[in-house]
Parts: sequence; C-alpha cells; structure tokens
Amino acid sequence: MPQGRGEIRARLEAHGIRPTKKLGQNFLADPNLVDRIVRTAAIGAGDQVIEVGAGTGTLTKALADAGARVVAFEIDRRLEPVLREALIGTDVDLRIGDITKVDLAAELGSGSWVMAANLPYNVGTPLLLDALRFVPSIERFVVMVQREVADRLTAIPGGRVYGLPSIVVALNAVARVAFTVPPEVFFPAPDIESAVVELVRRPAPPAAERAIELATVAFQQRRKMLRRSLVGALADPEAALAAAAIPATARPEDTDVAAFVRLAEVTP
Ligand code: SAM
Repeated sequence: MPQGRGEIRARLEAHGIRPTKKLGQNFLADPNLVDRIVRTAAIGAGDQVIEVGAGTGTLTKALADAGARVVAFEIDRRLEPVLREALIGTDVDLRIGDITKVDLAAELGSGSWVMAANLPYNVGTPLLLDALRFVPSIERFVVMVQREVADRLTAIPGGRVYGLPSIVVALNAVARVAFTVPPEVFFPAPDIESAVVELVRRPAPPAAERAIELATVAFQQRRKMLRRSLVGALADPEAALAAAAIPATARPEDTDVAAFVRLAEVTP
C-alpha cells in the first residue's frame, strides 16, 4: 500500500517510534510526490540506485518497483523492522548504518549509479558535495534538500547565496532545481520549504581540486578582495590574478567557476 500520512504515522506508532529532528526525520507522506521524484530521476529497469536515508521506505519501494537495483542506507536501527516490512517482495539491499562512515567510492565500484534521496538535512550537503568530488560512479543525483540549500547549490555569481557549494557543484555537474515542495507533504512537517535538485555529472577540469582549495580560502572572507584574502595561499596574489585575467578588485562572490579554474591553472 502506498504510504500516505496516516499509513506512515500508523507504521511508526506500531513500532513505538517518534521521529527525531536530530536525524532529519521528515518522512515523505505524499505518494504522488514520491512518483514525481522517481520520474524526475528517470529510473527504469536495470538502473543502479543509491538511496541515503531510507526512512519508512516510501521512496525506496517506489525505486525498486520502477525496476532499479537499490542500495539503501538508514542510520536509525529503530526503523529496520518498518523498512523490512515495507520492502517485502523487493530485493532492495538495505544497509543499517551511518552513510558518512561508508567509503562510497569503494562500495559502489566502477558501475554507473544514480543517487535518489530525500536527504537528511544534518549530513545532506557535505555528503552530496563529497560524492560529486570523490565518487565518480554516481553519474546523476536527484535529491530533496531544504529550499535554501537548493538555491546555494545552483547559485550563479553575484548574489549572497553563491559560495563554495555552488562552485563544487558547477565544477562537477550541470544542476537545476527541478521543483519545490511545500512542508505539508512531510510527516512531521518541517518549518521550511524543500526542493528537488537534479545534478548531472560532467567531467571536472583537471585543476578542479586546486580551484576548490583556492575558493575555500577566498570564501572564508567573502567580503575581502581576492588579492588580500589569498595572501597566505599564493606567493604573489596580484600577479596570479593578472595571469588568470581576473580583475585586481575581484571579490569571491563575483568570481565565476571558470575564473577560479584559471587561477588554479596559473598557480598549480
Ligand atoms: N527517504 C525517507 C522519506 O523520504 O520519507 C526518509 C527521509 S528523511 C528526510 C532522512 C532519513 O535519513 C531519516 O530516516 C534519517 O534517520 C536518515 N539519516 C539521517 N542521518 C543519516 C546517516 N548519517 N546515514 C544514513 N541515514 C541517515
């Protein structure tokens, strides 16, 4: 049976489970929305999907029903019986444990994977950014995050929300906000809007990691001009900026990814 609000509440109550904020436990309680995520991820037979935070198994089951091979992680041991029950008849590979302790690159190997998830807000952003940088076998991501996080991930230069996450994303993927999601579709309802973001991997330039290193230093002082904030990171920041064709007065929030890559290339 698809899991709407009443069904989820009943399943949790039957096992004496109260959702905890600490683990970002806002369960998707709208079967239409679950379908929309599966459709956005274009999941079909033969796809390999990794899900982070299986919860009560709504999305997990829908992914498996779409024909995917699903590996699903869930940290909360209390949810294991709920999940096992929800996933009867599927061959989902359920892993009870903390995803942040898993070496995903080694675990997933060299095949091609999609990450589809309603990400727990406590670990979602670093997990996604690390996966983009270090787990090349994940080729697409369709993930629900807080609206504000979605805006940061997909931001372009010039605004307050543009920062290191936007740069890591732009170096490694083409990203878009697929759709926004109101709080009422979750049980319990969070205080804020959410959004589903789609990221399609593209090859990062060879200097990507060096560009991230420099952007990390620069964004620690986002109001300062690069020629000042990069003093400890570069032998001669002004010469390097000139060599990379970046204006001497540039600040990090006006500096696009291509400029950070040029700066990385001239200061290997
Ligand atoms: N996928 C379910 C859904 O959409 O209803 C649950 C989504 S809920 C936003 C996030 C889930 O991630 C929770 O079930 C939480 O227990 C789990 N979680 C939180 N931190 C985790 C971690 N470090 N590793 C694995 N799962 C985690």
